This record gives sequence, structure tokens and C-alpha cells, in this order.
Amino acid sequence: SGKFFVGGNWKCNGTKDSISKLVSDLNSAKLEADVDVVVAPPFVYIDQVKNTLADRIEISGQNSWVGKGGAFTGEINVEQLKDIGCKWVILGHSERRHVIGEDDQFIGKKAAYALTEGLGVIACIGEKLEERESGKTFDVYAVPSWDNIVIAYEPVWAIGTGKVASPLQAQEVHVAVRDWLKKNVSAEVASKTRIIYGGSVNGGNCAELAKQEDIDGFLVGGASLKGPEFATIVNSVT
Ligand code: 13P
Repeated sequence: SGKFFVGGNWKCNGTKDSISKLVSDLNSAKLEADVDVVVAPPFVYIDQVKNTLADRIEISGQNSWVGKGGAFTGEINVEQLKDIGCKWVILGHSERRHVIGEDDQFIGKKAAYALTEGLGVIACIGEKLEERESGKTFDVYAVPSWDNIVIAYEPVWAIGTGKVASPLQAQEVHVAVRDWLKKNVSAEVASKTRIIYGGSVNGGNCAELAKQEDIDGFLVGGASLKGPEFATIVNSVT
């Protein structure tokens, strides 16, 4: 449902030089036309990427402050992301939840603010291994409008571990998320909202995952730092 969506989350990686190489690899890659492609560089390199990357690829922040700017040392606000050319922001990534300590309520507020200000939100959800085992697979926060949201399902146990969810495991959760949307929001939102998978996606496993009916794209960490491999993932659309 919806156009295939592939995001590259560069996380806290890169230098001016490595990013310049990655941008030039992306600029020379052949990317399927019918895919939304977005990259999320570290804040300090967004301007460099915006000025050098082909317009065909959109840019995302990896986080944003919960409201308007002001005396919030170290934070970056939604208005600044828009000002510098971002169309998206990733919110609720598990590294921000579990390493930095953001909770559902704070992330929900951030999402509401970003959406109200017209920034697209890549909203991350995902369970820890012990939660999967106890059957508590996902939680979703309230949002004001679903038009500009992509949901990224990223099981924590699959992030950066090389342990990718099996296509059926991912498909099963994507269906559950879609059912949840249907019950709690609307059938229209459920069918329109893109639900993408993240966690150890690479050039070798993307094709099988992309075949699943309810996998509408990917959020890619490690493999998005390599231009040709990221292009393979973008082009896995079926
Ligand atoms: P990896 O692709 O490195 O497992 O990271 C996934 C992720 O967290 C993307 O947001």
C-alpha cells in the first residue's frame, strides 16, 4: 500500500570526506523511479548533503526537539530542519528510546508537533526480545494526522545485529500494525499508511522481505552507508 519507501538512517556515522563519497555514489546510482528515497545524515552534515545530493532523494533529520526553539542546549527544532531543506524526521528510534531514554509520551508529543508544522514523520516502533517472547509486540502513540507518517517497524533484537527478522516474522507484525490502524484509526489510514521494516536489512536479504505484501519499504542503518548496496535495497521494490 502506497509507494515503496526506503530510508537510509546514517545514525552517528561519517565525516565530511566519507559523506562526500557516499553522496557521489548515490548520485551516480540508478534508482527505480517509483520509490520514495530518503536519507538521514547526522545534523552537522545535512547542509553538505542538501547542497550536493540529487534532489531525487529527500532528506530527513534523525530527531527533533519537542516544540519551538529557545533555551534548549544541544537540541535542533522542527523549524530548523525545514529551513535547511528536510522533508522528514525520524522519531522514536529504539536507540533514542533505550539508549537515550525517550518515552512514548515524549515521542508522541514530538510527532504531533512535527506533523503540525508540516514535517513528515518516520515513526519507529519495535519490541525488545523479551517483549517479543512475552507476546507484547508493539505499541503505537496517538497522532493528529496520518497523512504524512510512515511507520517503521524495527525489532530491537534485529538492529545492528545481523539478525534480520524472517520475511514471515516481519509480515506478521506489519499485518498486526495494519489491523491496529484499522481498528483504532480507520480502514482508509490502515490501507494507505506505509509500514516499513528495519533491522539488519542488506543487499542480500531485501528482495525476499520486499515480496511480503505488507512490507512497504525499509529503514536501513549499516547498509545505507554504502551507496551501491543502498541502491540495491531501493531497487528491491516488487
Ligand atoms: P541496521 O540496518 O544497521 O540494523 O539498523 C537498522 C536501523 O536501526 C535503522 O533505523
